[in-house]
Amino acid sequence: MYDVIIIGAGIAGATFAAKISKYAKTLLIEAQDYRKEIPIRTNVFPEHNRPFIKEEIDWDNKNIFPCLHTKTNYMSDEFNGVIDANEFGIPLGNICHTENIIIELINQFEQQGGTFNSSERISKINRKSDSLEIINDKGESYNTNLLALATGSRGFDLQRSLGFETPDHYTGALIHLFGPEDKINENLEYNYVFHINPKISTNGPFYFNKGKGRIATGFLGKINESKEEILSKLDRILKNYKPIQPFVNSLKYDLSSAVVGEISKHPIKSLSKDRVLVLGEAAGLVTAFFYEGMLPGVASGDIAAKTIKQLLEDDCNFSRLELNKYDQEVKRVLFTYFKNGNALEYLIYNEGSHVKSLWRLYTELLKENKLARKYIYEAYINQDLSTHNTSNDKYVGEKWFGKLPALSKITLSPKFFKALLM
Ligand SMILES: Cc1cc2nc3c(=O)[nH]c(=O)nc-3n(C[C@H](O)[C@H](O)[C@H](O)COP(=O)(O)OP(=O)(O)OC[C@H]3O[C@@H](n4cnc5c(N)ncnc54)[C@H](O)[C@@H]3O)c2cc1C
Repeated sequence: MYDVIIIGAGIAGATFAAKISKYAKTLLIEAQDYRKEIPIRTNVFPEHNRPFIKEEIDWDNKNIFPCLHTKTNYMSDEFNGVIDANEFGIPLGNICHTENIIIELINQFEQQGGTFNSSERISKINRKSDSLEIINDKGESYNTNLLALATGSRGFDLQRSLGFETPDHYTGALIHLFGPEDKINENLEYNYVFHINPKISTNGPFYFNKGKGRIATGFLGKINESKEEILSKLDRILKNYKPIQPFVNSLKYDLSSAVVGEISKHPIKSLSKDRVLVLGEAAGLVTAFFYEGMLPGVASGDIAAKTIKQLLEDDCNFSRLELNKYDQEVKRVLFTYFKNGNALEYLIYNEGSHVKSLWRLYTELLKENKLARKYIYEAYINQDLSTHNTSNDKYVGEKWFGKLPALSKITLSPKFFKALLM
C-alpha cells in the first residue's frame, strides 16, 4: 500500500514526486522507457518558475540550464519586438534542457526512498471504499491512498474514467536543429523567438528555443491536419520560409526525429476528487497564448506537495473537500497571470483577416515602447505571480489599440473591449 502514486514523470509529476517523497511512501510510474532515454526537450524556463522548484534545482547546474535567457523576440514579418534583459536588469530566466531537470528530480525522489517504475503504462484505475487500485497493462496492480494524475495530454482515458473533464487539445510538431555552438549563436541572437503567421497556424506560434548545441523549433497545426501534413509543412517551412532562413541556415535536422503530439490548454473546472489530484498539462494548466506549461507543471507539483504534506500531518483521508485546498491554491497562484494569455489568445488565435496586421502592430509597439517592454519583462521575473499586475497588461492593450488605423478601431473595438475584461 502506497501513500501516494503519481502517474506520469513529466515536469509536473517529477516535481511532485521529488517534493512529496520526503513525507510519504511514493510510487512514480512512467510509460516511456526513461532508463533507456528521456526524450530531449529544450524549453524556455522563466525566472517566475523559480519559487516553485528552488530547493530541488541548482540554478548554476549547466546540464540543466546551459544558457541564460536574456533575449526574446516577439517577431512579425516586419518588426522585432525584442525584450532584452540587459535593458532592465536580471535575466528573463534560463533555457533548460528539460530531460536533465527530470533526471535530477527523479534522482532526488529515489534517494528519498521513492520507487520509480519506468516503461510501465497504467491502463485502469478502480475505486475501492478506502483506497484506489492502479493497474498496469500487464495486469499488475498497486494500492494507494492518494493518486496524482500527471499524464499531460496522453492520459485522457484514465482521466475520464475517474470522472474528470479533459482540456482542449491541439496537435503540434517539435524538432531539434543541431550544429556547432558558434554557428547556432551566429544564426540566432535570441534565446526565444515567438512568431505569428496565420498562414502557418491560427492556433499558435512558430517558435525557436535556443539551447546549447541545439535549437528546438516547431508550431501548432491547424485543426484536423494529419501528422503527415504537419511534418511535411514543418519541412517546407524550415527549407523555404524566408523570415526564418537566417536562423536555420546550415543547421542539421532529421525529420524522422520530429515529435508530433498534443498540447492542452484551458484548465478543467475541478482539479481534484476524492483521493485524486490532476497536475500540470493534464489539467489544462498551460497559458493560452504562449503555451507555457513548465510554470504550471512546477507550480502544481509544489502546491500539491504542500497540500498533501499538511493533510498527512492532520491524518486526513484525502476527501474531495480536503483536496479542494489544492484547487483553490492553484487558481490563486496562477489564474491572475493566465488572464493575459486568455486575452491575447482571443485577439490573435482566430481566422480573422485582421490577425496578421494586429500582430505586426503588437511587435511594432514592443519595438518602440519601453514601458510596454518593461511590463513584459516584469512578468518574466515576477517571483509571486498571484500579484501579477493586470493593469500593466491593460496599458499594453490600450497602446496596441491606439495604433490601429481608424477603420480597424471601429471594427475591432468590441473585441478589444472584451479582451480588456478577461
Ligand atoms: C512543442 C512544445 C514546446 C513547448 N515549449 C515550452 C516552453 O518552452 N516553455 C514552457 O514553459 N512550456 C513549453 N511547452 C509546454 C510544456 O512543455 C508542457 O506543458 C509541460 O512539459 C507538460 O508537463 P506535464 O508534466 O504536465 O506533462 P508531460 O510532460 O506530457 O508528462 C506526462 C507524462 O505522463 C506519461 N503518461 C501518460 N499516460 C500514462 C500512463 N497511462 N501510464 C504511465 N505514464 C503515462 C507520459 O509518458 C509523459 O511522460 C511546450 C510544449 C510543446 C508541445
